[in-house]
Amino acid sequence: MSHPTPSAPTALLGLDAIRAELAGIYRDLHAHPELSFAEHRTAAEVARRAGEYGCEVTTGVGRTGVVAVLRNGPGPTVLVRADFDALPVTERTGLGHASTVEGVMHACGHDMHTACLLGALKLLADSRALWGGTVLGVFQPAEEAGQGARAMLDDGLYERFGTPDVVLGQHVGPFPAGTIGAHAGPAFAAADALRVVMHGKGAHGSRPETSVDPVVMAASTVLRLQTIVSREIAGSETAVVTVGALNAGTKDNIIPDEAELKLSIRTYTEDVRRTVLAAVERIVRGEAAVAGAAREPDIETTASFPLLVNDEDAVARTMAAVGAVIGADKVFDPGPVTGSEDVGLFGAEAQVPLCYWLLGGADPEAFGAALAAGTLERDIPSNHSPYFAPVVEPTLTTGVTALTTAALAWLDAR
Ligand SMILES: [Zn+2]
Ligand SMILES: [Zn+2]
Repeated sequence: MSHPTPSAPTALLGLDAIRAELAGIYRDLHAHPELSFAEHRTAAEVARRAGEYGCEVTTGVGRTGVVAVLRNGPGPTVLVRADFDALPVTERTGLGHASTVEGVMHACGHDMHTACLLGALKLLADSRALWGGTVLGVFQPAEEAGQGARAMLDDGLYERFGTPDVVLGQHVGPFPAGTIGAHAGPAFAAADALRVVMHGKGAHGSRPETSVDPVVMAASTVLRLQTIVSREIAGSETAVVTVGALNAGTKDNIIPDEAELKLSIRTYTEDVRRTVLAAVERIVRGEAAVAGAAREPDIETTASFPLLVNDEDAVARTMAAVGAVIGADKVFDPGPVTGSEDVGLFGAEAQVPLCYWLLGGADPEAFGAALAAGTLERDIPSNHSPYFAPVVEPTLTTGVTALTTAALAWLDAR
């Protein structure tokens, strides 16, 4: 690479002085989680800190999103993104900084993304002498709903703050803290969430002959949906079809009127995605017809995440820089993951390269022990678990280092 980059090690010298403050911010965010599009306290905290660090701050972008801009003369525009919503999960980590909000938890680590981006903005603001260009710090709401990136773009993110030349970001995950995983090409699955309502005909539980039983209809549908991946998708392809919710009825002796199913579908190519979605519709309608339902089922898309494709050259350039700072042996290729992310929209909208990587969050010793014992699934909680709890360090230091270094790899040297 001929591109002369600003010195990341010089910019990172300031990290020691802010490490304790960032850990405090992380714990505070963790203790005060907020659901998608309700991140009011979080947004206010982020705006206040970013303002103190010298960013031009705008709140209310895409409802609760925050944009923190560092302008530093001519040069490239680098978008660095963190999401900041939490999940409807009751925390069971028992940590001192556990959620203080009943039934809401930062179970996906978005609090860590947010603290890391604040740290990176502080280091970049304090090292303006090293670099030229513009840094767009994008704090995105409602990632879990698959709506936040779209909302910020629709609110004029690029028209108001400038179109980026590259989009960078990270997601914490259940592998050793201190390491970074990046996969070029399709890296996070496309996800579609569907809500299906199957209509039967209610009756007294003692008189099934007068009913069209939606419980049996739904049960049969759930089983047949399992054949999509096993019977309709080639062995060389991959897909996930999960029925995460199945709700019907209230009481043992009442046959209800309807049953509701909630599905999550993950795919890695548009072909497979279309095949799976068409099969779901065919099966749902087919089972309703077989059961003699008088009314067609309702099928509604409740969330849709596009396939996240990492640009090959962007991954190479960014990870070369990150590896040079944290050690090339700490950077690995995790392959594609079945999780989904709406960060891809930021790159796709501007038709610019995206590099989105995974940040290790598990205690390296605990991870090593679990790996050796073959108990990873049991002992290392994954995202969305009520036990998911990244170790604060070295996760935070690695995350701030990666974001800062990655941004500098795309800014001009001064
Ligand atoms: Zn999540
Ligand atoms: Zn997440």
